[in-house]
Amino acid sequence: MTKEFDEVLVREEEIRARVSELAAEISRDYEGRNPLLVCILKGAVFFMADLVREISVPCELDFMAVASYGSATDSSGVVRILKDLDANIEGRDVIIIEDIIDTGLTLSYLFKNLGARNPATVEACALLTKPSRRKADISCKYVGFEVPDRFVIGYGLDYREDYRNLRFIAALPEEKDE
Ligand code: 5GP
Repeated sequence: MTKEFDEVLVREEEIRARVSELAAEISRDYEGRNPLLVCILKGAVFFMADLVREISVPCELDFMAVASYGSATDSSGVVRILKDLDANIEGRDVIIIEDIIDTGLTLSYLFKNLGARNPATVEACALLTKPSRRKADISCKYVGFEVPDRFVIGYGLDYREDYRNLRFIAALPEEKDE
C-alpha cells in the first residue's frame, strides 16, 4: 500500500516508537493521578487507542467531536461542537488528544471551552504539528512529529473520509490538494 504514496512523511515504525515515548512521558508526569484522555474525533482515534494502551497510570477515556467551518483542506477557526463529553471534568486532569495542530485555532478553542468547566489541569497531546501555519498562540505539552506545510493523510487523518486506515502518514498528492 505504501507504494501508492511517493511522499510518506512518517513511517509505521516511527509512529509506534514515538507513541511509546509519549506514553512514557505522560505516565511519568501523571504518576499517582488518574487523567481523563479526551479524544478529538475522528482523526485522533487510532493515536488515542495506541497511546492509551502504552500508558501505565490508570486513566479514563472520553470523546468529543468538533467541526471547523471551511473547505476540506483549510480550517476557518470557527468551531462547533458536534458531540460533547459524557464526563463532568470538574477537578479532573484532562489531556486533549488531537491528530494535528495546523493553525492552532481548534486547540485554542478547546483549551478555552474545557478550561471553563473547572478542570484541575488541561494539557494537550498532538500526534502532528505544522508550526509554519500557526495563527493561535497555544502550548501543546506533548507533540509527536513536525510535518511540513502539506495536507497530510493516514493513521486516522482523512481527506474527505478517505485514507484514515493507512498505517503511515503521507502527504496528499498535490493534484488533490485544493
Ligand atoms: P487547526 O484548527 O489547528 O487549523 O486545525 C485542526 C484540525 O484541522 C485538525 O484536528 C484536523 O482535523 C484538521 N487538519 C488540519 N491540517 C490537516 C491535515 O494536514 N490533514 C488532515 N487530514 N486534517 C487536517
